[in-house]
Amino acid sequence: MQRDLTGIFHAQQDAFTQAPFPSLTIRRERLGRLARMTKRHQHDIVRAIQTDFGQRSETEIRLAEISAVLQAITYTRRRLWHWMRPQRAGMPWRLLPAKARIAPQPLGVVGVMAPWNYPWSLALMPVIDAFAAGNVVMLKPSEYASHTSALLAKLIPQYFTEEEFSVIEGGVDVAEVFSALPFDHLLFTGSTQVGRKVALAAAANLTPVTLELGGKSPAIVAADADLEHAAAAIVFGKGMNAGQTCIAPDYVLVESRSLEAMIKALTQAIAHQRPNDKEATSAISERHQQRIDSLLNEARDHGCRIIDAGPHAPVLIIDPTQDLAVMREEIFGRCLPVIAVKSFDDAIGYVNARAHPLALYAFTNDKTLQSTLLQRTRSGALVFNETLLHHAVPSLPFGGVGESGMGTYHGRHGFERFSHLRGIFYQAKKPTSRLLRPPYRRWLLKLLG
Ligand code: NAD
Repeated sequence: MQRDLTGIFHAQQDAFTQAPFPSLTIRRERLGRLARMTKRHQHDIVRAIQTDFGQRSETEIRLAEISAVLQAITYTRRRLWHWMRPQRAGMPWRLLPAKARIAPQPLGVVGVMAPWNYPWSLALMPVIDAFAAGNVVMLKPSEYASHTSALLAKLIPQYFTEEEFSVIEGGVDVAEVFSALPFDHLLFTGSTQVGRKVALAAAANLTPVTLELGGKSPAIVAADADLEHAAAAIVFGKGMNAGQTCIAPDYVLVESRSLEAMIKALTQAIAHQRPNDKEATSAISERHQQRIDSLLNEARDHGCRIIDAGPHAPVLIIDPTQDLAVMREEIFGRCLPVIAVKSFDDAIGYVNARAHPLALYAFTNDKTLQSTLLQRTRSGALVFNETLLHHAVPSLPFGGVGESGMGTYHGRHGFERFSHLRGIFYQAKKPTSRLLRPPYRRWLLKLLG
């Protein structure tokens, strides 16, 4: 297996060396093939993902897996010519009339390690950015979404040569070897725990990494918030994919005086959005389901108030103590702890006492509170009065900070992530810089102040 992986890696490296700067046409054409593959095989994609999950909402698959990829490709193809153009850079007056430019250059072979929760889109979104930047790609899909992984492995060779895009299937043993390949860049999406291991493996090669990790993303509900709207947005974010979303609101912080009203609003939103099992999604495996059950059972055994509207709906856990696993671990499932805090300030203190989240959701229209959050907290993204939708804005950088990850992608940010921004200096025909060279003139010292 190791020889195969290394063999494919070297074949890609050789192919890249032969053509290290693909033209705009080639890059747009590769993106076009990615779009055609996704569009033509959408039924197979839906079926594979549904088989992986046992049950998953077709609407959510079309929205978050298929349409998300197609829209990202359209956005990128339209703007690529502009991103690829070298940009003018300023020049200090002492060095004029020299000129400076910043020229984005492809990196080479990019490795992408994908998770199981959105097994089509989170495998291909980084590939879109890597192709846009002119690279070739090796993809390792998740073994937990084995049918989608097999579909990627079947389709990609029909649309791409192995030298431009290869798929490596396998479990942890393959993932370990994969992360140790001397990529020119490695993007990993997964847990913080495995992210650490991937970063260590990459460090041995000085391979730059982008880590798209997880963590507990809070939703703060301020006193001025429209509770009905806040509840609808939070239940939407938690309900999507049964909570198996890296940016799902993990828990809710609400001021004590609004606690009961918020619980009522959340209960109504759950009844409205998740009335039956038609659009339901299951946990990816029996093991993942058992983990969620055990979080819930532990909270129940500790005497927490629990409001459960059925096996596929978000389940409210009111005011769990901090020692419970549901408050220590990223939930990644349907549990939704609702915690009362004395004030908005206390909510900020609560968030700041924990690892920086991937997303921080806040429900308030108060401009002072909004700017307080902006200045006093840190998170991958800060979202007001909504959940999840920032992921669908291609002009926003997407990524975490601290334990929720490093480096961002999507749109131009992704293009730059997978490019080397090369500084170029053009000396003029009659350079003034000759005046800077020895033998140094006395006036030079004066000029330097
Ligand atoms: P995971 O970290 O458990 O597993 C990811 C992959 O890592 C697996 O496919 C496995 O083969 C591989 N792996 C395991 N041990 C390894 C090792 N020692 N070296 C190299 N690779 C190894 O993550 P998951 O269960 O696939 O996904 C869930 C996590 O991903 C959650 O924490 C979630 O928040 C996060 N996530 C983040 C984003 C984001 O964009 N930031 C998106 C989706 C999911």
